[in-house]
Amino acid sequence: MRNQNLHVTNICKNLCGFCGFGRNATDDGAYCHDKAGIQAQARLAYGRKVTEICLLSGVHPGFTLGTFIDMMHWIHEAAPGVHIHSFSPDEVAHAAKKGHIPTPEVIARLKEEGLGTIQGTAAEILVDSVRQVICPR
Ligand code: SF4
Repeated sequence: MRNQNLHVTNICKNLCGFCGFGRNATDDGAYCHDKAGIQAQARLAYGRKVTEICLLSGVHPGFTLGTFIDMMHWIHEAAPGVHIHSFSPDEVAHAAKKGHIPTPEVIARLKEEGLGTIQGTAAEILVDSVRQVICPR
């Protein structure tokens, strides 16, 4: 297996105290790739014989389940057959909350639309009192 990370956006609703990556949409250096930008990265990965693409991004407040589905379709168009490893539990929870869709349904739709495996990212801190300190949002 050959893996490549693909960063879609660094705009993030959480802005954790320790994070040097996440930005507000209006901050210097904030970015969010469109279809062309995502497909360009996916094509580059495909050309390198990458077999798994991992979408690693901020938790963009404007993204919905539909956004995630579109991104997977764009990647599969540009890199057919590649395994998509993506969507942190926080992104899944965000899509569920924003769309008023039960979480299991969000996961089932993502799988139907091309998700290979889900990330563990952002679910490492399981103690609420600790999360409250490092990532209150
Ligand atoms: S959720 Fe992730 S990307 Fe967003 S601020 Fe926290 S560590 Fe950074």
